[in-house]
Amino acid sequence: MFKRAIAGTTVFLFLTGVAHAQLSETEQRIVAAVKLRTPAALQLLEKSVLINSGTLNPEGVRAVGEIYRAELDALGFKTRWIDMPPAMKRAGHLVATHEGGSGKRVLLLGHLDTVFEKGSSVPLWERRGDRVRGQGVNDMKGGDVILIEALRALKSAGALDHANVEIMFTGDEERAGMPLQTARGDMVAMGKRADYALSFEGSNKHDGVDTASIARRSSGGWVLRVKGKAAHSMGVFSAQSGYGAIYETARILNAFREQVIEPSLTFNPGLVFGGTNVSYADDTATASAFGKSNVIARDAEVLGDLRYLSPEQGERARQKMQAIVSSGNLPGTSATISFSESYPPMPPTEAGRKLAELYSKASVDAGLGRIDTLDPSLRGAGDVQFVAPYTVGIDGLGAQGRGAHTDDEDLEIASIERGAVRAALLVYRLTQ
Ligand SMILES: [Zn+2]
Repeated sequence: MFKRAIAGTTVFLFLTGVAHAQLSETEQRIVAAVKLRTPAALQLLEKSVLINSGTLNPEGVRAVGEIYRAELDALGFKTRWIDMPPAMKRAGHLVATHEGGSGKRVLLLGHLDTVFEKGSSVPLWERRGDRVRGQGVNDMKGGDVILIEALRALKSAGALDHANVEIMFTGDEERAGMPLQTARGDMVAMGKRADYALSFEGSNKHDGVDTASIARRSSGGWVLRVKGKAAHSMGVFSAQSGYGAIYETARILNAFREQVIEPSLTFNPGLVFGGTNVSYADDTATASAFGKSNVIARDAEVLGDLRYLSPEQGERARQKMQAIVSSGNLPGTSATISFSESYPPMPPTEAGRKLAELYSKASVDAGLGRIDTLDPSLRGAGDVQFVAPYTVGIDGLGAQGRGAHTDDEDLEIASIERGAVRAALLVYRLTQ
């Protein structure tokens, strides 16, 4: 597909004065179509950012979904809304499908929700020169608009007709509904029939070079529960009274730190509480503890997270932690640990690396520079991980900005056009 257009390339160079020697005629039309839409793309972004769509605001999430749905309908996609069970308290997801024959099938992922709930003091949209500050501008409505504009450019260049493309915009990426089997069941089914999955979460720069992700770490948690004997503090360390729950907790956490750390693995105790009686309220993430300095602690608990790059690494970490918890307990104490996993890990693969190279080549060919792969320890978990076990995926095809999830989340406006050019070329090359 690259060779047959060489003759036409020279002509186009004359017309535009831009060196696109690496792009076919169709690809040059695709790039031109993206650029023509640059002002309108920003308007589409503004329109969708002006609606608050915090994960727990289902009306807002659905309203943003309606905006994108209308755009995809106009491009010839079959669209549908998938509702989630009411008990889950989530808006559901927007799905769009374009059938185009027997070529490779590409799954594109975005999300409609943001971390900014209704009543957030962060302004929805605040233009600042060549940047915009606002709710979800780079995480990830900017990426959603890039996805849509890339497809629009393919359509207007006549390059969408023979493409098999499926899209899922989830409504609960920032706080996935439970159970996850229900919340991500449709996505997993789409992942199973896809040859490639491209996710449009924000793109990071590393050492001045744009990056994409071929690996993302799991996100899971653990709860450590420690028991001691409540007794007068004067007996602490004695055979009869023992060391108490808090000393045992300290032993365990210190052993985790000394024995379990390895590259790409992290585990963070985020909350520790102990005393005579303890309790924890999940809905407010608040612990309470009753105890006195002259009483040996009977109860202690620790809530932590655990992030790893491969199932093997996760298993190794859990086994080491389990061994530390269940042996070597201080006198008079006992401990248990339980683990949970919310996002499966997406380990780096050769196929993923090749896909990232294609993405980088598309960028270079369009004169937008190479794209490196991002160290997975530099980013959190994301939806692409649910399909990673079934297809070849990369993430980070979205917009560029700073401070995602913070009050200062912003977006570099020019990154919309850049992202749409790269994504359109990649989808074109994968589907033709
Ligand atoms: Zn996101």
